[in-house]
Amino acid sequence: MTQAFVSSRVVTPEGVRPAAVIVEQGRIQAVRSPGDPPRNATVHNFGDLVILPGLVDSHVHVNEPGRTEWEGFATATRAAAAGGYTTLVDMPLNCLPETTTVAALEAKRHAATGQCLVDWAPWGGLTGQNEKHLEPLAAAGVAGFKCFLVDPGIDGLAMIGKQELEDALPTVARIGLPLLVHAELAEHLYQCGDADDWRQYATYLRSRPDESELAAIRMLIGLCRKYRFPLHIVHLSTGLALDDLARARSEGLPITVETCPHYLHLVAEEIPAGATLFKCAPPIRSRDNREALWQGLRDGVIDLIATDHSPCPPSMKRIEEGNFRTAWGGIASLSVAISVIWTEMRKRVLPIENLARWMSAQPAKLAGLEGRKGAIAAGCDADLVVFDPDAEFTLSTEDLHYRHLVSPYLGERLHGRVQTTFLGGTAVFEQRSFPNPPIGRELRR
Ligand SMILES: [Zn+2]
Repeated sequence: MTQAFVSSRVVTPEGVRPAAVIVEQGRIQAVRSPGDPPRNATVHNFGDLVILPGLVDSHVHVNEPGRTEWEGFATATRAAAAGGYTTLVDMPLNCLPETTTVAALEAKRHAATGQCLVDWAPWGGLTGQNEKHLEPLAAAGVAGFKCFLVDPGIDGLAMIGKQELEDALPTVARIGLPLLVHAELAEHLYQCGDADDWRQYATYLRSRPDESELAAIRMLIGLCRKYRFPLHIVHLSTGLALDDLARARSEGLPITVETCPHYLHLVAEEIPAGATLFKCAPPIRSRDNREALWQGLRDGVIDLIATDHSPCPPSMKRIEEGNFRTAWGGIASLSVAISVIWTEMRKRVLPIENLARWMSAQPAKLAGLEGRKGAIAAGCDADLVVFDPDAEFTLSTEDLHYRHLVSPYLGERLHGRVQTTFLGGTAVFEQRSFPNPPIGRELRR
């Protein structure tokens, strides 16, 4: 069957234009002028609604197997489909076992089979102890590796020290897959005392200062210069590191950078006392810092926006107690990221092509999925999102779709709404429901 997806605003790598996206057997066969669909094609005409490439989220904690009560493939990919994502790249924690061996990767594949509404790919984990597993993990199909310079709060993926990291970097460089690093240095975190008021967000913010990220990033830039491995900074939160990153990139170092919707939308000044749903690491910082991150995106120093979708059971957020020290950190946003980002982009009069670049093309490239995901172009999977950029709505629990319906964004007035999400030409989200059984598959590079 040939299908034609038609709109006056199709977001292609060359810009936004009227077009018919011709799809055969789940792939984009051509992008033509809209008056010219093949005679035998089934035509879906979306008028003036925007057609975006399916979004790619390169930073998701699915948590299955092992912590499926936190989140799982069925619920995470449902939220993804509702949020316009057609590909998720899964972090090697907080699942059990952590994805640090091929056996653990196989357990994850087994768990995912038959459950996914969208496609997915795995990251592997790098600890100080699993260097000999890196080559086998790469051969088995992980998209790259993730490590932590601070304690992630999970035993099975312990933080790595500088020396252990240096020991592993020749192997990482030889394999050539990206190394994703949580860049905060433990020695710069403050252990605020018991006398501090941990209901205040300012106390938590003080415990994880900008300097911790800045020192980590400076160390990593030095290591990248020495070992020339593809370095990716996950969830950049401080704008203070942008100058260093810009200089390193102009030097030609292979560095990419991501930030997240919460850093681009929320500000520390407005987080109420006890509101632990806003806790994440690194922390949400000041309003001025938020503007610096937007400038980093405009300047191209920040390549992409990923959600760091990281849910947990509501009890672990200690919502009633409101203690920022003991609450679990992490914000779930797969289903709302597109609207949160588009709301902020509208305020700054940024064109929708940038959304496709930051949330689809660049994350696809990071995960080695270029040419298959991340663009409306001949040869790519027919992953398409029909998006109404002018829709305005108040976010409610019905919009979330992931396992635990809590969010710091609830009640916000947002712009831009996903109407339909197609994976390989098949609708996986349509009119606020999920019309088809799970057809998502693992992508191997
Ligand atoms: Zn994360």
